[in-house]
Amino acid sequence: MRTAALVPAAGRGERLGPGTPKALRPLGGVPMLVHAVRVLAQARLVDLVVVAAPPEDVAGVRRILADHDAGAEVRVVAGGATRQESVRRALADLPDDIEAVLVHDAARPLVPVEVVDAVAAAVRDGAAAVVPALPVTDTVKRVDDAGAVVETLDRVALRAAQTPQGFRRAVLEAAHAGGDPLADVTDDAGLVERTGVTVRVVPGAAEAFKVTRPLDLVLAEAVLARRRAEGVR
Ligand code: C5P
Repeated sequence: MRTAALVPAAGRGERLGPGTPKALRPLGGVPMLVHAVRVLAQARLVDLVVVAAPPEDVAGVRRILADHDAGAEVRVVAGGATRQESVRRALADLPDDIEAVLVHDAARPLVPVEVVDAVAAAVRDGAAAVVPALPVTDTVKRVDDAGAVVETLDRVALRAAQTPQGFRRAVLEAAHAGGDPLADVTDDAGLVERTGVTVRVVPGAAEAFKVTRPLDLVLAEAVLARRRAEGVR
């Protein structure tokens, strides 16, 4: 089963503060996107990587990926105004022989390769849709527009979804074909769930956290420094 990894990397990263698009911000001196592509390239079952770049910077992203050997066949397409549109555009660029698709946020540059392998293997072994996820450590409350708590959710049943999320290609394509491209969908599994397909959960990893806010960058630099000191990267 040929597998491709799609990397939505077209977000501005406004919650990280002003600057270059998030995926191109450096981590240990190397753009976040390069870290993400390298780990996908290391995965046993990934044959091709398709990056959805900020639309105004497609040539720049091609150059960055060529300058930093990513270790895989990498294509770059123009991303869209929403994450969903970026994924849709990357999907449209896939060769016909791809049967399984992983979707991985560029903003999760430190995901361990074991998580990528586990998700890809679950799809190869027959799962239609797979997400890596972790138990939630905070207590989560639903609130109304006025800021009052409506309910406290049962934490035991909650999981925080990460990426890469894995899908049979036809399942992901059908979910995107039916979705509203402007809807506020924050992950691909959410679209697939709406089509009635069962999404399976496999264990995620703390180091697969998403770099969203300034403190996440501090943590990511610390994780990378520890890995380098241990000779992992
Ligand atoms: O904003 P957030 O951190 O949830 O974005 C998750 C991923 O989706 C990031 O890697 C970001 O670059 C990507 N994205 C995209 N196109 C957009 C918005 C976000 O590819 N229009």
